[in-house]
Amino acid sequence: ATGKPLLSVRDLQAWYGESHILHGMNFEVRTGEVVTLLGRNGAGKTTTLKSVMGIIGKRTGTIDFDGHDISRASSDKIARRGIAFCPEERGIFASLDVRENLMLPPQVRPGGLSLEQIFELFPNLRERLKSQGTKLSGGEQQMLAIARILRTGARFLMLDEPTEGLAPVIIQQIGHTIARLKKEGFTILLVEQNFRFAATVADRYYVVEHGKIIDGFANSELDANMDKLHTYLGV
Ligand code: ATP
Repeated sequence: ATGKPLLSVRDLQAWYGESHILHGMNFEVRTGEVVTLLGRNGAGKTTTLKSVMGIIGKRTGTIDFDGHDISRASSDKIARRGIAFCPEERGIFASLDVRENLMLPPQVRPGGLSLEQIFELFPNLRERLKSQGTKLSGGEQQMLAIARILRTGARFLMLDEPTEGLAPVIIQQIGHTIARLKKEGFTILLVEQNFRFAATVADRYYVVEHGKIIDGFANSELDANMDKLHTYLGV
């Protein structure tokens, strides 16, 4: 891994109402890395992304991004710092077509991708430009959801289980897309259950359990950690 931390999370705790979900998360993501959060259902991976994005009821601890403390900032301010979140449920508007979905997010920073740049990354979307959200396959919806956050100008992308429910060939395409984005200089924090997929793109991993990071290792150490990983993930 190269560079200084772009995102640095220290003692992050988070709650949904009375439910205390994150119990002191510590991790960092350096510029240009793809970092993957692994862990069982309910471990707190999604909650971690939501906390960084500022879309959770209550959080404490420190979140530094690009030299700024964003731990008390609102989500729109966090977006303007250059962070984008692609949720697991994708959030495609069914009644809007592909073009309209792409035009929805405001460009909050310079450097947001133009439609042309997006079609270069996602050729399928050009062909589906006039198709309504409902008419898209799961894979197309996922591509659209990733494409849409690139419009904002964010350079730090948080992707929540982008491969969920998709066919192997589509998963492979998403892997290529992530590799391409990394090559273009984006920094990516990924949540994945599928560590075979994660292994194709990740530089490093953290393992989340009961709202804490319990382990972390580089992609080159994946094989050596496989037994432990099977235990952690129960697979
Ligand atoms: P998954 O893959 O199932 O999303 P995860 O590791 O991302 O797993 P989270 O979604 O972060 O886990 O959930 C962590 C815990 O928080 C779970 O126990 C879940 O039931 C709880 N939780 C999630 N969302 C809410 C909510 N909106 N209100 C209350 N509790 C929630």
